[in-house]
Amino acid sequence: MPTTSLAQDDSGVGVKNAINAYDKKNFLGCFSVPYAVVNDFAFLSTQSPAECREGLVEAIKVACVKDEKFFRWIESNLPGLHALQSQALQYCIEHSALLHAKHICQGGDAFEMGSSRPLDFGHWVAHRLEQMSGNKLSHARAVSIGLAVDVLYSAQAGLLSRQACLRILEVLHGLELPLWHDLLEQRCSNGQLLIWQGLEEFREHLGGRLTVLLLKDIGRGVNIHHIDYALFCASLEQLAQFAANGTLPGDSTPQAH
Ligand SMILES: [Zn+2]
Repeated sequence: MPTTSLAQDDSGVGVKNAINAYDKKNFLGCFSVPYAVVNDFAFLSTQSPAECREGLVEAIKVACVKDEKFFRWIESNLPGLHALQSQALQYCIEHSALLHAKHICQGGDAFEMGSSRPLDFGHWVAHRLEQMSGNKLSHARAVSIGLAVDVLYSAQAGLLSRQACLRILEVLHGLELPLWHDLLEQRCSNGQLLIWQGLEEFREHLGGRLTVLLLKDIGRGVNIHHIDYALFCASLEQLAQFAANGTLPGDSTPQAH
């Protein structure tokens, strides 16, 4: 019985279970198919409004990867979702949970034997940021930043249109989710960005070939096996600018913030 918006729209609906161990989050785990998952919306009132709102980031993620129509629904219901209006909130959580469950049941890899993890979109940066922050940064906020990074990288790599990229950044911003964290700029002694090590950790976690899902359109993901460091750095610079003043380099008109 998941009790948070994030657990109800994502992590509680599935076959993976984990506990923290040795100072690492979700270090020990197992796959076990539940008899049922009960999403009781009454639990959501036990969360702070900000936390409840931030948990919707996984719904945005799954919409970006799987369901363009759902993304448009989120876009046009942003005020209701921001206000945690119960009808909008419940539809958003239910639809996200169904998309997650459908992928696990019908995606052909419920027990994650392969390296393709579409539901982990944006998560390689997120996991690394959570770790770098000493787990002070919540998963939801880290995922938002991770999505922003991978969306901008998708655009920078010529896969995703600039317009689609901006729409996703605006939805995240519209729910008061962060797009930037100063940890993204931290470097190790050889001058490389510390966040970059998250990519190797993600590959280790997959247990095989590096496979990262990027977007070629809203609702359409594409697996790639290489992230270019220079292009990644350029994407971070663009994101820093967007987070600071709501424009991307080359834009003449600022966005809403
Ligand atoms: Zn997540």
